[in-house]
Amino acid sequence: MATIGFIGLGNMGAPMAANLVKAGHQVTGFDVVASAARTLAENSGHAAASAPEAASAGEVVVTMLPAGPQVRAVYLGPDGVIARARKDALLIDCSTIDVETARSVAAAAADAGLHMLDAPVSGGVIGAEAATLTFMVGGEVGAFARGEPILKAMGRNIIHAGPSGAGQTAKICNNMMLAVSMIGVCEGFALAEKLGLSSKTLFDICSTSTSQCWAMTGYCPVPGPVPAAPSNRGYAAGFTAANMLKDLRLAQQAAGATAAATPLGAAAANLYQLFVDTGAGGLDFSGIMEFLHRPDNSR
Ligand code: NAD
Repeated sequence: MATIGFIGLGNMGAPMAANLVKAGHQVTGFDVVASAARTLAENSGHAAASAPEAASAGEVVVTMLPAGPQVRAVYLGPDGVIARARKDALLIDCSTIDVETARSVAAAAADAGLHMLDAPVSGGVIGAEAATLTFMVGGEVGAFARGEPILKAMGRNIIHAGPSGAGQTAKICNNMMLAVSMIGVCEGFALAEKLGLSSKTLFDICSTSTSQCWAMTGYCPVPGPVPAAPSNRGYAAGFTAANMLKDLRLAQQAAGATAAATPLGAAAANLYQLFVDTGAGGLDFSGIMEFLHRPDNSR
């Protein structure tokens, strides 16, 4: 079993750290919100008083932070994870951040003689609690082999995507495709209703036809056909529209940097921006169904 420093004990990080403890690892956690580390300590982990303390506490350091700026702040500088980690430590950032930051922080770690993985996740808070997350991992093969058993305590599918930044690349491409397919499904169901076709009939036909996709059959944005979907509980998240918008912006940033043509990704980012601007950022991302359904686009 490993000693692990864990920084960022929010909605995702708290249950992930708890699962590391359950798997028998010795986890020392830190969050700028002090109560988060106290909760970890009450559940057989240890609370660190600062990020450097957590960074130096383990053979492995895991971070789960909001976005790129926080990752830079926590890893770089004289009190950062890279400066304070043990000499042989493996660094694993599970936050969803821009590819450029993931690559540059990993390069800074390599300059200091440390191995680092970018390991963003899919599966949301439910997956974090159930230890069923999918990890998309970028970094060297040897570092992946070292990190895999740690990630297995928090997830079900651990996939090596390639070198540094490849995990973030997979994550933003996945979520851009998901947003585009979700909007497509919403538009189809909205049009069918206007034409007098019930959503049940459309679902029964399309779920076995060529438009079949996970946004429809796994997470249907209209109530009824998929009982576990957020559409059946007022679009309570799930995966929030605000987080989807964040990932779509990251995808657009990467598309701009590489001159990749992503017109539907851009349209999806614009639509989610409009949706979030109505105050719906905390709703599930499938809630865009209601937004697209209203002729005046108001909630
Ligand atoms: P969150 O805001 O609940 O948690 C982030 C935590 O980081 C907070 O507790 C915050 O206090 C802490 N933090 C911020 N700056 C810090 C610092 N300098 N030092 C220490 N702690 C600091 O966010 P979350 O929902 O847990 O998401 C974390 C990451 O996971 C994000 O990048 C998000 O995009 C990604 N993600 C979230 C979900 C989801 O469903 N929530 C799903 C997949 C991926």
